[in-house]
Amino acid sequence: MQQPTDSLHTEVHLMVDNTCNILVVEPLSVASENREAIVTTMQYVLKTAIQAVYRLEADELDTERLGGGKYLLFWEAAEGGAGVLSQLLEKPDAFRKIADAALDICHFKHPKDSCIQACYECLLSYRNQFDHALTHILHLPNKLVKNKKRVQNCNMKIIQKI
Ligand SMILES: [Zn+2]
Repeated sequence: MQQPTDSLHTEVHLMVDNTCNILVVEPLSVASENREAIVTTMQYVLKTAIQAVYRLEADELDTERLGGGKYLLFWEAAEGGAGVLSQLLEKPDAFRKIADAALDICHFKHPKDSCIQACYECLLSYRNQFDHALTHILHLPNKLVKNKKRVQNCNMKIIQKI
Protein backbone atom coordinates (compact mmCIF):
# COMPACT_ATOMS: atom_id res chain seq x y z
CA MET A 1 0.00 0.00 0.00
CA GLN A 2 1.42 3.36 -1.01
CA GLN A 3 1.03 6.41 1.23
CA PRO A 4 -0.28 9.66 -0.17
CA THR A 5 2.57 12.06 -0.94
CA ASP A 6 1.04 14.94 1.07
CA SER A 7 1.57 13.00 4.33
CA LEU A 8 5.29 12.43 3.72
CA HIS A 9 7.68 14.50 5.80
CA THR A 10 10.86 15.58 4.12
CA GLU A 11 14.08 16.94 5.57
CA VAL A 12 13.74 14.90 8.73
CA HIS A 13 16.99 15.04 10.73
CA LEU A 14 17.50 12.25 13.20
CA MET A 15 19.38 13.35 16.31
CA VAL A 16 20.67 11.66 19.40
CA ASP A 17 21.09 13.43 22.71
CA ASN A 18 23.71 11.82 24.90
CA THR A 19 25.69 12.86 27.94
CA CYS A 20 28.95 11.16 28.77
CA ASN A 21 32.12 11.70 30.76
CA ILE A 22 35.01 13.11 28.75
CA LEU A 23 38.67 13.84 29.28
CA VAL A 24 40.64 16.20 27.06
CA VAL A 25 44.43 15.87 27.08
CA GLU A 26 46.80 18.33 25.44
CA PRO A 27 50.14 16.69 24.68
CA LEU A 28 52.87 19.26 25.31
CA SER A 29 56.49 19.49 24.24
CA VAL A 30 56.03 16.99 21.44
CA ALA A 31 58.76 17.14 18.82
CA SER A 32 57.50 18.62 15.56
CA GLU A 33 59.24 15.84 13.66
CA ASN A 34 56.80 12.89 13.58
CA ARG A 35 54.37 14.83 15.77
CA GLU A 36 51.30 13.14 14.27
CA ALA A 37 52.74 9.68 14.88
CA ILE A 38 53.81 10.53 18.44
CA VAL A 39 50.41 12.00 19.35
CA THR A 40 48.56 9.12 17.70
CA THR A 41 50.68 6.62 19.59
CA MET A 42 50.04 8.48 22.86
CA GLN A 43 46.32 8.37 22.08
CA TYR A 44 46.29 4.59 21.88
CA VAL A 45 48.80 4.12 24.70
CA LEU A 46 46.54 6.10 27.04
CA LYS A 47 43.37 4.42 25.82
CA THR A 48 44.78 0.92 26.14
CA ALA A 49 46.31 1.62 29.56
CA ILE A 50 43.11 3.19 30.93
CA GLN A 51 41.15 0.17 29.69
CA ALA A 52 43.63 -2.19 31.33
CA VAL A 53 43.80 -0.42 34.70
CA TYR A 54 40.03 -0.01 35.00
CA ARG A 55 39.18 -3.29 33.26
CA LEU A 56 37.03 -1.68 30.57
CA GLU A 57 35.82 -3.44 27.45
CA ALA A 58 37.00 -2.08 24.11
CA ASP A 59 33.68 -0.39 23.43
CA GLU A 60 33.43 1.29 26.85
CA LEU A 61 36.11 3.90 26.16
CA ASP A 62 36.67 5.70 22.91
CA THR A 63 39.09 8.35 21.72
CA GLU A 64 39.61 10.84 18.96
CA ARG A 65 42.17 13.47 18.01
CA LEU A 66 40.88 17.03 17.90
CA GLY A 67 42.30 20.16 16.33
CA GLY A 68 44.62 18.31 13.99
CA GLY A 69 46.10 16.36 16.90
CA LYS A 70 46.47 19.30 19.30
CA TYR A 71 44.13 17.58 21.77
CA LEU A 72 43.17 14.03 22.60
CA LEU A 73 39.54 13.46 23.49
CA PHE A 74 38.55 10.42 25.54
CA TRP A 75 34.97 9.58 26.41
CA GLU A 76 33.17 6.82 28.21
CA ALA A 77 31.11 5.34 25.43
CA ALA A 78 29.06 2.96 27.57
CA GLU A 79 25.69 4.26 28.64
CA GLY A 80 25.98 5.87 32.05
CA GLY A 81 29.77 5.56 31.97
CA ALA A 82 31.95 3.92 34.58
CA GLY A 83 33.21 7.15 36.13
CA VAL A 84 36.74 6.21 35.16
CA LEU A 85 37.76 9.49 33.55
CA SER A 86 36.77 11.55 36.58
CA GLN A 87 38.87 9.22 38.76
CA LEU A 88 41.91 10.14 36.70
CA LEU A 89 41.53 13.72 37.84
CA GLU A 90 40.41 13.01 41.42
CA LYS A 91 42.85 10.29 42.48
CA PRO A 92 46.45 11.53 42.75
CA ASP A 93 48.11 8.24 41.82
CA ALA A 94 45.73 7.33 38.98
CA PHE A 95 47.97 8.62 36.20
CA ARG A 96 51.00 6.90 37.72
CA LYS A 97 49.09 3.60 37.44
CA ILE A 98 48.15 4.43 33.86
CA ALA A 99 51.77 5.21 32.95
CA ASP A 100 52.98 2.02 34.64
CA ALA A 101 50.40 -0.07 32.77
CA ALA A 102 51.35 1.67 29.52
CA LEU A 103 54.98 0.65 29.89
CA ASP A 104 53.92 -2.93 30.55
CA ILE A 105 51.46 -3.06 27.64
CA CYS A 106 54.03 -1.60 25.24
CA HIS A 107 56.56 -4.32 26.11
CA PHE A 108 58.98 -2.02 27.97
CA LYS A 109 58.91 -4.27 31.04
CA HIS A 110 59.00 -7.54 29.08
CA PRO A 111 60.44 -6.89 25.62
CA LYS A 112 58.76 -8.67 22.72
CA ASP A 113 61.20 -9.03 19.86
CA SER A 114 58.51 -9.66 17.25
CA CYS A 115 56.83 -6.31 17.97
CA ILE A 116 58.73 -3.89 15.77
CA GLN A 117 56.44 -0.84 15.77
CA ALA A 118 53.22 -2.02 17.38
CA CYS A 119 51.24 -5.23 17.44
CA TYR A 120 47.79 -6.52 18.29
CA GLU A 121 49.06 -7.48 21.74
CA CYS A 122 49.94 -3.89 22.60
CA LEU A 123 48.32 -1.01 20.70
CA LEU A 124 46.80 -2.23 17.46
CA SER A 125 43.17 -3.22 17.13
CA TYR A 126 40.55 -3.55 14.46
CA ARG A 127 39.00 -0.32 15.70
CA ASN A 128 42.15 1.77 15.10
CA GLN A 129 43.23 0.15 11.85
CA PHE A 130 43.23 3.48 10.00
CA ASP A 131 45.92 4.71 12.41
CA HIS A 132 48.15 1.62 12.31
CA ALA A 133 50.70 3.38 10.07
CA LEU A 134 50.97 6.20 12.64
CA THR A 135 51.25 3.95 15.69
CA HIS A 136 54.96 3.51 16.33
CA ILE A 137 56.18 1.92 19.51
CA LEU A 138 59.68 0.75 18.81
CA HIS A 139 60.45 -2.24 20.97
CA LEU A 140 63.82 -3.28 19.68
CA PRO A 141 66.23 -3.62 22.63
CA ASN A 142 68.82 -1.25 21.17
CA LYS A 143 66.17 1.46 20.83
CA LEU A 144 64.37 0.74 24.06
CA VAL A 145 66.14 3.23 26.31
CA LYS A 146 65.86 6.10 23.87
CA ASN A 147 62.17 5.56 23.20
CA LYS A 148 61.30 4.77 26.79
CA LYS A 149 62.69 8.16 27.74
CA ARG A 150 60.53 9.82 25.08
CA VAL A 151 57.34 8.07 26.25
CA GLN A 152 57.99 9.04 29.87
CA ASN A 153 58.58 12.67 28.91
CA CYS A 154 55.28 12.78 27.05
CA ASN A 155 53.44 11.27 30.01
CA MET A 156 54.95 13.81 32.39
CA LYS A 157 53.84 16.69 30.22
CA ILE A 158 50.33 15.35 30.01
CA ILE A 159 50.14 14.97 33.77
CA GLN A 160 51.25 18.53 34.27
CA LYS A 161 48.60 19.83 31.90
CA ILE A 162 45.76 18.00 33.63
ZN1 LIG B 1 53.47 -4.87 20.58
